[in-house]
Amino acid sequence: MRCFFYDPATVTGKTLRITGQQSRHIASVLRLTAQTRLTLYDGCGEIITGEIVHVSPEKTTVQILSRATAPQVTSPLILAQALLKGKKMDFLLQKATELGVDVFIPIHTRYCEKKIHALERQKRRWQRIILEACKQCHRPVPMRIEQPVELTQLSIPDCSNLIMPWEDETSQPLTAQLISPQFPTLLLIGPEGGFHPDEIHFASNAGFTTVSLGPRILRAETAALTATSIIQYIHRNLDPAPR
Ligand code: SAM
Repeated sequence: MRCFFYDPATVTGKTLRITGQQSRHIASVLRLTAQTRLTLYDGCGEIITGEIVHVSPEKTTVQILSRATAPQVTSPLILAQALLKGKKMDFLLQKATELGVDVFIPIHTRYCEKKIHALERQKRRWQRIILEACKQCHRPVPMRIEQPVELTQLSIPDCSNLIMPWEDETSQPLTAQLISPQFPTLLLIGPEGGFHPDEIHFASNAGFTTVSLGPRILRAETAALTATSIIQYIHRNLDPAPR
């Protein structure tokens, strides 16, 4: 079933409306017709199964058939990623959404080429990328993207597992022993040029454990997705969904 996001303010009784770009997409691109069933998310965990009763590029009306609630996340994964160049952030946001990262914090470090103040327009595009990825992978609650911060301003949740992949780590792999699955995990990944030694020092003092992801130097986005996959496996967030 195709997934879309709806605005709870459009619900009246047993119907809701989808307007704007999503309705144009339903009518003109997907050419969905009356009686097609859809899954609809409010973005906060409410899941509606509905059936199209009327469709036009301006407005799609859906009859609500049933409602459910997405399961609560018990141990969130927060990805703090140093700003990357070009389309790499777009790619990473899409993949992190698919892999179930809960919160994404863009961070600025010494070797980042992008500047924080130049990001406002990008943030709107990033939101769109996250929503599109949610629709594609059937994720009811989008990954939250926070305001970009300097590494030294990164706020650290209480009792969290603090993991920092670092290519110069020679002894500690990313193992399940480092992760208490009942607590959030904050994963910190460097930019293309890596972390400055002062930043490694800062993060170690803040409680981060440096880990190796193997003997090869990975691109930042590969490192982020590799570590995310390992942590999600340990958190049992890659288990099959109950039906
Ligand atoms: N400093 C390096 C350089 O310029 O040659 C490479 C930085 S790497 C491209 C970007 C980020 O990916 C690093 O800051 C680190 O967080 C992560 N990373 C890459 N390879 C890794 C590995 N083998 N083990 C752990 N982390 C790695």
